[in-house]
Amino acid sequence: METSAKCSLCGPIPDYASEYHSDWATEHWGGGQKLAPQVSLLKPHKVHHTYDFLECPKCGALFLLENDIAATGSGDYDQSVVTRLSAEDTAVLREILHRAGLATEDPAGLAGRLLGLPDDVLNLAGIHLWERDRELARRLLPALVDHYAAHGGGVWPQNWPWRFLYDFTTTQEDATLLLGELDRHPATPDLDRLRAFARVTVCSICRSIDTDAPTKIRLGALPPGLRALRRFGVSAHIDVWECPECDSLHFCESEDGIDGGLFRVGWMQDRIRPYLRRPESVEAKVIDDLFGHGGASERFIVTLGMRKDPDLVRPLVPRMVRRLANKPARWLHDALCELAQDPATAASVLASIAKLNPTNALVDSLAARARAV
Ligand SMILES: [Zn+2]
Ligand SMILES: [Zn+2]
Repeated sequence: METSAKCSLCGPIPDYASEYHSDWATEHWGGGQKLAPQVSLLKPHKVHHTYDFLECPKCGALFLLENDIAATGSGDYDQSVVTRLSAEDTAVLREILHRAGLATEDPAGLAGRLLGLPDDVLNLAGIHLWERDRELARRLLPALVDHYAAHGGGVWPQNWPWRFLYDFTTTQEDATLLLGELDRHPATPDLDRLRAFARVTVCSICRSIDTDAPTKIRLGALPPGLRALRRFGVSAHIDVWECPECDSLHFCESEDGIDGGLFRVGWMQDRIRPYLRRPESVEAKVIDDLFGHGGASERFIVTLGMRKDPDLVRPLVPRMVRRLANKPARWLHDALCELAQDPATAASVLASIAKLNPTNALVDSLAARARAV
């Protein structure tokens, strides 16, 4: 093979080139911003609709294509960017793109080489592994768990090892594989987070419970699996149930104490748990943030707080009043009426109501109760 720089096919393509697609951009930022015509001769790997690897059919050089096309708007800024990858990065990528089912002799070595790729190249390689070569992705798992255990890097999606390993928590088969690997390592907060997600995926009791859509239940006639969930007994209308198999928390909300809905607490559970056990130890700003998640979370925060110590939720009063005006709910009205039995809180309720426009029947009722204090 020829080297890329001398290649008669891809040689004329600059190392970095972009093309704006709109006439507007061509006019305003100078004409001639066009990709070299040879780009169209490169072979796309069709990894992703926005990013792709383009390969020179003659010398094997690889280019990263980024189509930056806005989904909405004028399209004036839409552009394609083509960047030539270094010989070293190309060699690593060829190991996965041209594997064609061949065994990978040294997955740990390959994992290490992949982790040395630039971020945008690595992200695309990850998509290739997940979408088109799950077998290789699974072979890389032990080395990537080792790497993550040694280096961490947090649980945010931009952290590639986390993102890659997190994808192993989404199917039962892969979650089982991941749990086996995690068991080889001492617990750390980052690994525990992965383990928690994987355990939910394979949980025989609660894996069907969703975060957003409620799992409808009849409290007096629970299916056998859900009967195993441990109840904290916050109130007849809002409670938190804990799964004895995977330790996840779920909100159970019921208007009439007969029918109800279960929602997975999800990411919030690290903060909900201490609030359940020792609400007085939780900082006011955390309580405020948990209330802000809306839905079952706000009802839980207010109900449990009032039961343990109403002073925990008094700072939320202005926010609760606004919430009552925007999304009227009988339980919230009743909670505010109870808090407003204290004269200082009644004054705070009235001051918050004075700022509202418009109000509703529940707000009017609350105002009457507060004025009577
Ligand atoms: Zn070439
Ligand atoms: Zn569970």
